[in-house]
Amino acid sequence: MNGFFDRMREKLQQFMTGRYGTDELSKALLIVTFVLFILSVLTGWSIFLILAIAGLIFSYFRMFSRNYAARSAENRKYLDLSANLRRKLRVQKKRFDGRKDYRFFKCPTCGQEVRVPKGKGHIRITCPKCGSQFDRTV
Ligand SMILES: [Zn+2]
Repeated sequence: MNGFFDRMREKLQQFMTGRYGTDELSKALLIVTFVLFILSVLTGWSIFLILAIAGLIFSYFRMFSRNYAARSAENRKYLDLSANLRRKLRVQKKRFDGRKDYRFFKCPTCGQEVRVPKGKGHIRITCPKCGSQFDRTV
């Protein structure tokens, strides 16, 4: 039985040779497709299902494509367009991960976010970006 799965894996590897595979855009498409599918179930609107299927077809088309240059250009474009959003998500994640040990303040002068360890009482914070100082209780 093991031999069967080994042969299948070999066949799949042969099939994927020279093909583009997955990238950041595929991962984003997969998430969007999944959300669209859930929306179609929740609302019963077939437009969401059609979009989900279209997204899935597009994902597979990209994965099996042999046009490496075109696919990586798409991926670069996606990365450029989503850079701001992905940075914001990264900041939110960092904030969420550190929520037990840190408090976060916005500098009143430049808006830079400042991370301060919790439990220090009333302190004066110096903004690392513009150097202005402000008082907070942590
Ligand atoms: Zn500042």
